Amino acid sequence: MTPKIARFLAEQQPATPCLVLDVDRVERNFAALRNALPLAQIYYAVKANPAHPILERLVRLGSRFDAASFEEIEACLAAGAVASAISYGNTIKKVSAIRNAYAAGVAMFAFDSREELEKLARHAPGSRVYCRIRVENHGADWPLSRKFGTSIESARELMLLAGELGLDPYGLSFHVGSQQTTTASYEVAIGQVAMLFTDLRDRGVKVRMVNLGGGFPTRYRDEVPGIDAFGNAIMRAMTEHFGNDLPEMVIEPGRFVVADAGVVCAEVVLVSRRERDDPVRWVYLDIGRFGGLAETEGESIRYRITTPHDGGETGPVAIAGPTCDGADIMYERSNYRLPMALSCGDRVELLSTGAYVTTYASQRFNGFAPLAEHYI
Ligand SMILES: *Cc1c(COP(=O)(O)O)cnc(C)c1O
Repeated sequence: MTPKIARFLAEQQPATPCLVLDVDRVERNFAALRNALPLAQIYYAVKANPAHPILERLVRLGSRFDAASFEEIEACLAAGAVASAISYGNTIKKVSAIRNAYAAGVAMFAFDSREELEKLARHAPGSRVYCRIRVENHGADWPLSRKFGTSIESARELMLLAGELGLDPYGLSFHVGSQQTTTASYEVAIGQVAMLFTDLRDRGVKVRMVNLGGGFPTRYRDEVPGIDAFGNAIMRAMTEHFGNDLPEMVIEPGRFVVADAGVVCAEVVLVSRRERDDPVRWVYLDIGRFGGLAETEGESIRYRITTPHDGGETGPVAIAGPTCDGADIMYERSNYRLPMALSCGDRVELLSTGAYVTTYASQRFNGFAPLAEHYI
């Protein structure tokens, strides 16, 4: 937690649950990333947190933007971004959204199928397009599954087709999975993309760009390698495979830019035991899976939690949300321990919750209001 957030929480005692996010920390993370990969253009993945103060700050820092819908494109434009700095990175786009993005002057579009490519050729003629390749997501705590990307072989065909359809076959992309904890995942993916890149060049297709996606991890409960380790591994692999003829490099970080800038403040609603002598206490907070903590699904993302009793004796707990849904359990198997002194009414903090929390909050399930947000 940054000193600014600690002061805000102590002085304002905001109603819970709420997210407090220090925008200066976003700036620091952006600078660290730029420093680790100075040759890459940074396209902030808006979905991680689309709040206006964040987008505005990033515009001022010279960030570009990776948007997944026309609504996200509008949010970037409203924050002062120019359309030529926005990439439409979702491989699944409504025709109306493609038309709107094209009319607005959006710089480039992602695709991973012939069908989507044909939509782009018709509704965004002549645009720069890039093909997303499916790569292994090993080492990612929040993998992106088989929903996106195509094989190398099919990407080759589609890139050739893109040119025939009058589009500009601009680049290749991949995403190694979110909260990716290994640098090797990028190195392997770069090797695969580089082979296709060369192959396409040999066939006369002028590919110019490699988009390395996001995935850069933030520190939650467990340690992760620092951003410089990712920067070094990526540059080593790029140089190994492309020599001194490096293509334009694009990265699309989301989580790394905003996660550790935010803290969720919550209230303990109940501490109870299922049976009188059960060693495990159930801690119910006023935020849960439906209040924005969707990434606790499968206990994938394990947030650090601080309490007013830290330092005192602890015991095992299960941690759940306040709704009447049985799926509203955050942690039951991840060996969380919290102080024995914890009780109803205590305020606790969930750290590094600036990414993928506010936008995942449901609309008034059980009557609970969506998460309040404070950008400071
Ligand atoms: C979600 C997403 C990102 C951001 O991923 P992080 O793991 O948050 O860095 C980048 N690119 C695409 C295409 C995405 O879908």
